[in-house]
Amino acid sequence: MTTQNLRVEHGTETSDVSSAPLLDVGRGNRPLKDEIMEAVSDIIDSGWFIGGPHVKLLEETVAEVSQTEFAIGCASGSDALLLALMAIGIEPGDEVICPSFTFFATASAIHRLGGTPVFIDIEPDTFNLDVSKIESLITSRTKAIIPVHLFGQCADMDPINSIAEAHGLKVVEDCAQAIGATYAGRSAGSLGSVGCFSFYPTKNLGGFGDGGMLTTNDPEIADKLRLLANHGMRPRYYHSEVGINSRLDAIQAAALNAKMKHIGDYSSKRAVNAARYEQLMVDAGIADQLLIPQANTDCGHVWNQFTIRIPGGNRDQVRQQLVEMNVGSEVYYPVPLHQQECFASLKENNVDLVETDRAAEEVLSLPIFPELTAAEQAYAVNCLAKILDVVEMPLKRAG
Ligand SMILES: *Cc1c(COP(=O)(O)O)cnc(C)c1O
Repeated sequence: MTTQNLRVEHGTETSDVSSAPLLDVGRGNRPLKDEIMEAVSDIIDSGWFIGGPHVKLLEETVAEVSQTEFAIGCASGSDALLLALMAIGIEPGDEVICPSFTFFATASAIHRLGGTPVFIDIEPDTFNLDVSKIESLITSRTKAIIPVHLFGQCADMDPINSIAEAHGLKVVEDCAQAIGATYAGRSAGSLGSVGCFSFYPTKNLGGFGDGGMLTTNDPEIADKLRLLANHGMRPRYYHSEVGINSRLDAIQAAALNAKMKHIGDYSSKRAVNAARYEQLMVDAGIADQLLIPQANTDCGHVWNQFTIRIPGGNRDQVRQQLVEMNVGSEVYYPVPLHQQECFASLKENNVDLVETDRAAEEVLSLPIFPELTAAEQAYAVNCLAKILDVVEMPLKRAG
């Protein structure tokens, strides 16, 4: 198949569009460049590069968006997970339940503390952990659960919290993909003991490098997180605990503060794009061949990814043809964590991850960033329809 120019209609305009990038962070950053440059200039003049007023402001606004009393900046989402597990006291030999269908950092944080990740299967429709599988994985060594709010939608937190409470477990939310997401009117980051956020450039609130944040309503945990993120040092050069060096830079915070003013707008544009994809796929007659992602009722989905399924072993072939037609896509995630070489020693613990393995073979994430145009989406769906017309596709699985 060759690259084609498809004439696509959107609203009253007609335009020639022949590509759809998976991501273009420049489109979001450019309108804020002057504002950010001014803040960076002030930071250079002030010489206050770590912590300071810009970090404090971001902590306040993230706490507000997350509906928590406390927010503590740190160096990355990965460090946020590590610090959260340190703060709740995960030690060698402890077991922590988490999905295998997630980014590596969810489980590596457990491993780094000498704990054992115990992988749980996912629900096929939301890709989030399957609550009905939790209790069978709990042992006398289980200390915590890490629900990941994957692709921007919250895991089913009420039953997770009830089970955790019944068994005396802590709940650490991996909110790296879910800033601003809600569950029954409550915000991601306020639904467990600690919330962990990432400001990696491709996240819904992305910086100009690495950055992260922790949220909690527990003053003791908040205090411990602050201590641990700064070498366990208080006062200066006196160490009551062995912490790590994980702080948020003022320059990152300044860039993030400029974007934070627009976070509601970014999320609603992503939601508009998701709804538009669904309509375009229905109109193109391909909706029945793909499992179009849905927002659960009572969940405010922030659409970090728009992830369809291409069943029948055709995913990689479809993706390759999309590449040839200049449509960006990505597989999150091709190798689930229980299949990773570094976790081979855990194999015997992880037998029944059927939905995880199937998702890894079928998922494909399409462009959904806020500034993506309607014409680009129409082009992407037209390309997908052309490809699916030739590729032999089984009908959508029942249920
Ligand atoms: C991005 C991500 C992380 C890690 O965040 P970094 O800031 O890149 O360290 C952790 N968990 C999930 C689910 C992520 O998507």
